[in-house]
Formats: sequence, C-alpha cells, structure tokens
Amino acid sequence: MADGPRSPDTPGWRVRVVPNLYPAFERQEVVVHSPRHARSFAELADDELAATAIAWAARADAARAEGFGYLHAFVNEGRAAGASLQHSHSQLVWLRDAPPAAAGEAPGGLRDLVRRGRETELEVTHRADVIAFCHPAGRLPYEMAIASKEELAPWPDGATLVVALEVLREAVQRLQRVEGLVPWNAWLHQGRDWHIELVPRLATLAGIELGAGIYVNTVAPEDAAAALRSAEAD
Ligand SMILES: [Zn+2]
Repeated sequence: MADGPRSPDTPGWRVRVVPNLYPAFERQEVVVHSPRHARSFAELADDELAATAIAWAARADAARAEGFGYLHAFVNEGRAAGASLQHSHSQLVWLRDAPPAAAGEAPGGLRDLVRRGRETELEVTHRADVIAFCHPAGRLPYEMAIASKEELAPWPDGATLVVALEVLREAVQRLQRVEGLVPWNAWLHQGRDWHIELVPRLATLAGIELGAGIYVNTVAPEDAAAALRSAEAD
C-alpha cells in the first residue's frame, strides 16, 4: 500500500484493505496492518503504521468521492473489545454523516481538554505536534485522547496521521506495561478537531453504566497518567 495500490494478494503486501465478510453497514472494510502475525497494535513496525495511515486516508478519499462524508476508523483489540481476529487490524465504516457520538461533542470542547492535558498532570506522552493525555472525565480507567496540540482540522493530514498512530502505538505499549494485555477500543473522531479516543476495557459495562449513563472510574485520571508516564514504552 505504501507504494500505491497493487493487485490483490500479490507478494510483498504490507497493509491491505478487504471488505468485511459480515458487514453490519452498507460499506465496511477491514485493514490488515501487517503480513506478519502481529497480535497487537503495540507490535507494529514504523512502516506498517505509515502504510496503515496511508490506507485510512486513501479510503477516506474514496468514501468521500462516493458521497460518504464520514469514515469511521476504529480498532478493536481483544475478544472482550469485540475483536474476532487475533491479528492486528482496523475497520473502516463508510457513513453518510457524522455518527451521534461525534456529532454530539461540544464544539471547541476538545481544545479545552488539550489545554488541560498539556497544562496539568494528565499528559501521557507527546510526539511532534501530537499529544496523548488521560481524559479528565474518562468513563473507564486509563481512557485517553490523542489530538493535535495546536492545529484545528477535521481530518489529520498524512504526516500528522502517521504521528497520531505512532502515539497510539506508544499509548498501547504503556498501557500493556501497566495493566498487561487488556482489551481496548480506539477510534478516530472527525469534527472541528480530529482526535483519537482510546478506551481500555478494564471494567464490565453493566446496568449502572448502560442504564444510567453513569461511569464509576476507579482510577483517578491524574494517577492513571502518572502510571502511564512512568511505564517504559518499547
Ligand atoms: Zn470524540
């Protein structure tokens, strides 16, 4: 993919996009991150992350050209997080419009969060213009957000998306050092400010969370960030 599209199943592929065999949506694709048997996003090599970023951007362009204005890109890792493959992959769902979770976010709210992440003890790591921080009102322990420190853009440019995926990989590596191989979900939200949300599935969602929308997070975000900062990334 890094060298441009090829014929399917030719030798030497790095990342490939295939239609989901059991699509729940009109258009749903699976991006296989590596020809190696990499079980976790944390194991991906730099060139595999770069090729994944190129694949996401190319499919977002293709979706837009067909009238699907919103590409919902996400990673499920671990069975409890909904993954049915034990091989690192992401999924791309073509949507006509922003889904409710993205459309319902307060405009400008992310800027406040990024500022608080930078200025407080919530920062986990940063690379170039991209920061990862623990969400001050995380629903589950170690919930993180990844965003540009300054730039306002609905979709990250090519270089920024590569850095964002590198930061996601580092965040997952740090999480694994602290909590082991936990299941997690991450997704890219587009809007006034693109961002990635990373939600480790360290608690079971039950009646209080699903029924009342009340999340009891047992790890204070400042403590979660401190633990993640002190953990060695690979
Ligand atoms: Zn969001």
